[in-house]
Amino acid sequence: MDIYRLPALSDNYIFLLHDPIQQIAAVVDPAEAEPVLAQLKALGAELVAIFNTHHHGDHVGGNRTLLQQFPRATVYAGDKDRGRIPGQQVFLQDGDRVTFGQRTAQVFFIPGHTRGHIAYYFPPLEDSDPATLTASQSEASGELFCGDTIFAGGCGRLFEGTPAQMVDSIGRLRLLPDNTRIWCAHEYTLGNLKFALTIEPKNQALVQRLETVKTMRSRHEPTVPSTISVEKATNPFLRWDQPEVIAAVGGDSPSRTFGKLRGKKDLF
Ligand code: ZN
Ligand code: FE
Repeated sequence: MDIYRLPALSDNYIFLLHDPIQQIAAVVDPAEAEPVLAQLKALGAELVAIFNTHHHGDHVGGNRTLLQQFPRATVYAGDKDRGRIPGQQVFLQDGDRVTFGQRTAQVFFIPGHTRGHIAYYFPPLEDSDPATLTASQSEASGELFCGDTIFAGGCGRLFEGTPAQMVDSIGRLRLLPDNTRIWCAHEYTLGNLKFALTIEPKNQALVQRLETVKTMRSRHEPTVPSTISVEKATNPFLRWDQPEVIAAVGGDSPSRTFGKLRGKKDLF
């Protein structure tokens, strides 16, 4: 499975999954249709699936146009987003599995940013035959598509959920293997890390990451995907149980610490 990262709108990323053997493609959170249609054309691939993480316009805006061009494509989204996803046909719950080409994704129900938010996690293909794989294929690591839940260096705003829900949701994602790649839906990394540094100014991994990201952004390079290990080391929104973070923001429970952290970020 090849993954293409398509910039869209002002700071969104759309992810196009391509199975070069079957010449089929799927798209995660098509903010708009045009970049997806252009990439499909370049690949000569047929769109068979739209995987939405949540109902916001910058994640489903391309659904209708893509369905007009590819009427056989199936639209997947969370069961709790019923009625809010254009063209939704499959209503997913926590633990459901969805297949694309050779890969099967596990669905995580992760409320917090919105009440219906889900993530798609493709575990690594451990028993895949190296002879049949191309170098660009990404079978060695797991792939997490988590919409607006974990961002590189940050997390989504709590529009429809509570800090306790977000701690629970991110807490489950945080347990995925360290080398799992995180394909989040926005390029917010630089601002997120500037905030993170105000919380943990002595976190050397964070200091170094901010420098790296500053350089990358000055060259207009994308900072997505990230990985679980990088986020666990540098993203305060995965570090509510670290003494440094608790000392910086207070809170006598994970959800209170997380809530205070999120509150500070909202004002940053
Ligand atoms: Zn959103
Ligand atoms: Fe978004």
